[in-house]
Order: sequence, then C-alpha cells, then structure tokens
Amino acid sequence: MMNSNSQRLILVGGGHAQLSILRALAQRKMDREVTLITPGRYQMYSGMLPGWMAGHYTLDECRIDLLPLAERAGVRIIQSRVAGIDAAQHMVQLADGSWLGFDQLSLDVGSEIDTARLQAAGARLLPVKPLEHFVAQWPRIVQAATGKSGYRLIVVGGGAAGVELAFAARHALAARARNAEVILIASDHGLLPGHAAGVKRRVRVLLQQRGIALYQAQALGDEDGVQLSTGAHLAADRILAATGARPAGWLAQTDLARDERGYVLVDARHRSVSHPDVFAAGDVCARTDVQLPRSGVHAVFAGPVLAHNLLAASDAPLLRYRPRHKSLYLLATGPQHAIASWGALSAQGGWVWRWKNWIDRRFMRKYGTYPAR
Ligand SMILES: Cc1cc2nc3c(=O)[nH]c(=O)nc-3n(C[C@H](O)[C@H](O)[C@H](O)COP(=O)(O)OP(=O)(O)OC[C@H]3O[C@@H](n4cnc5c(N)ncnc54)[C@H](O)[C@@H]3O)c2cc1C
Repeated sequence: MMNSNSQRLILVGGGHAQLSILRALAQRKMDREVTLITPGRYQMYSGMLPGWMAGHYTLDECRIDLLPLAERAGVRIIQSRVAGIDAAQHMVQLADGSWLGFDQLSLDVGSEIDTARLQAAGARLLPVKPLEHFVAQWPRIVQAATGKSGYRLIVVGGGAAGVELAFAARHALAARARNAEVILIASDHGLLPGHAAGVKRRVRVLLQQRGIALYQAQALGDEDGVQLSTGAHLAADRILAATGARPAGWLAQTDLARDERGYVLVDARHRSVSHPDVFAAGDVCARTDVQLPRSGVHAVFAGPVLAHNLLAASDAPLLRYRPRHKSLYLLATGPQHAIASWGALSAQGGWVWRWKNWIDRRFMRKYGTYPAR
C-alpha cells in the first residue's frame, strides 16, 4: 500500500470534492506530481443552474474555471475523459486509449441521469446531465418555444432537481413564450421523496399557482412524447430528464469494488474497499457504513476529508467524513423566491432565495474568483 509520500496523484474529474484538494494544494506547495483529468475547463455548479435558467445569473457566475485553480495549485491538467481504471496495476486509461500511471487516485466524476425509460423519445430528450451539454442546449429550447405557439415542455423527475428545473423553465418561458406549457411528471414514488410533508405541500401549491401541471405516474418515452402508466399520453416538444442517478457505464470495466448498482464502494475515509490507493467522493461512490443521498452537499463536505487523506503526512491518521443527520435544501422556484427544507421544517419566500443566493455565491467566491485566462 502506498502512503501519502507517493509521488504521482491523479485527480479524475473536477467535481465538488476535488476542489478542496486543488485549494489545499494552492495553499501549501507539495512535492507531488498532481494531474487533473477533466473533459472541460469548467466545473458547473448545479445549485445555481436553475437560477441561470431563470435568468438570475450569467453562465460565468455558475461555473468554476478549473484552469487557473489548477495553475495556482501546481497541478497539470489533461483535458480528456477517463475511460477505464486498472487499479491493481495503478493505471488509468484516457479516452484516446493511452494509459497513465499513478500512485494514488482520487475519483470524483459524479453520476449520469438514468434515462433508460425515456430513450425512445430520441432527439426530444434532454437529460440534465452532463450539465455542460444541458447548458449548451437550454437556450435552443427557449428559442424554439419563443418561435412556436403552444410549445410543450415536459420535465420528468419528481426529486429536487426535477422540481427546480420545472420552476425555472416555467419562469424562463413565461417571459418569452407566453403560450408555452410546462408539465412536471413525478414517478410513482411521488414528489420529493425524502422531504417532509410540509415541503411537498408548499411545492404543490406553488406548482399550481405557476400553472405547472403535475402528474404522478411512470413515464415511458416514445417518439411523440411520453406514455404514462395511468394510460394517458402526453405529446411534448422537448423532455427534460432529471430521473435519478446511475453510475457511468465505464466504471463497470474497472477492477474497483462496486455496489449492486455499480457505484464505487468506499469506507468512511472515502477509500476504496478493494484498492487502498484509490479514493472516491461525491455521486460516484457508495459508502459501506451509511447510505448517503447523491447530492452536492455530501460531495462538498467530503472534500476537506478527501484532501486531508490524500495530502497528509504518511504517519497522520486518516479522517472520516461524518455526514450530518439532516441536510439543508434550498429549492429555487423560478422568480427570486425559494423553499427551504431541513428535516421536518420548511419555509419559503424571497428571503429564502436571498439566503440561497448568499450561500451559493459564497461557495463560488471560494473557487471562482480567479481571473479567467
Ligand atoms: C438541476 C440540479 C440542481 C441540483 N441542486 C442541488 C442542490 O441545490 N444541492 C445539492 O446538494 N445537490 C444538488 N444537485 C445534485 C448535485 O448536482 C450532485 O449531487 C453533485 O453535482 C455531485 O457532485 P460530484 O462532485 O459528485 O460530481 P459533479 O459535480 O457532477 O462533477 C463531476 C465532474 O467529473 C467530470 N467527469 C465526468 N466523467 C468524467 C470522466 N470519465 N473523466 C474525467 N472527468 C469526468 C465532469 O465533467 C464533472 O466536472 C442538483 C442537481 C441538479 C441536476
């Protein structure tokens, strides 16, 4: 097993947890050869994506430029995707087929949207992830809706992301395409599973007030739109999918231990249970000791633990990430208004939006104030 004096550290993906490593490296120069492999130079901050759709933020306000961050940290960037990992041989494979050796590896590549049931909708379908693809496509939807009377946009997914997308889309289209229709489809599991009844009630009332129809059924994509398990068929111009997470397919080709769904299994120190020189955090991992929801909150809070465990002196004990029992969720609802959900408690108003805006901007200032090249 390698210790933290190992020379070559590879960071795969510039996800929320890796940002802590880049920050720590910028603060103390280390005798390590660190490489970040990322498909693009920007890391989108999903918390501000609905605000961007609704027109409250520019794109640059919602994304972190990894280039200057890496430069400050003395980290080399390779703009590519990782396509495979041979952890036993300490090698990662890039999209072009080449291999790179590592002594330690930190994996933070997020998750994909599970669109299996919607695939038949073809070009109408737009999954919210990868976020970079989504932000490139969204302005086209607004443009198409502006040019067509009676444009219908369906959002599939009743979790926090789907709810926020529906509210944001409604707000954006109401300004530009008055006759556009936004529909939200939550699955049989219902609206906002895991959130308190009070939050669900608030969301239902606001959906109604904003003219967003809500269906609770399984949706199956077809060439015109979606077929619901209730028997109804809904035609759609475009379908936004926020239908829950699944791990990236290429992870199945690695020798890392994974859970039954395919997520990389880690212990409380975020270390792979099969390969101790590999660490993982964020959506890509599954903890063996506790079930964590796949949300940015845990990717962000696990970051400093990950940074410590990868960068601390070899004789320093590794830290555990101890998630809080309750996480705060602030759901943007279109205009500068939001709903707060914290355990059994909920609240809403313009002040919740200002609170969310303050938290999000504070997070971005931590990483995003470096001048762009
Ligand atoms: C609309 C929306 C709103 C959300 N709002 C919230 C919220 O308010 N609060 C909250 O807690 N959660 C929220 N979430 C969930 C949150 O986005 C995710 O849980 C979070 O982004 C996970 O962070 P991560 O670091 O695991 O991965 P990501 O943030 O997805 O980062 C992964 C990075 O890895 C890169 N990558 C991917 N594949 C590869 C590869 N093969 N090789 C190299 N790099 C790769 C990607 O380009 C990306 O930069 C929201 C999600 C959505 C869709």
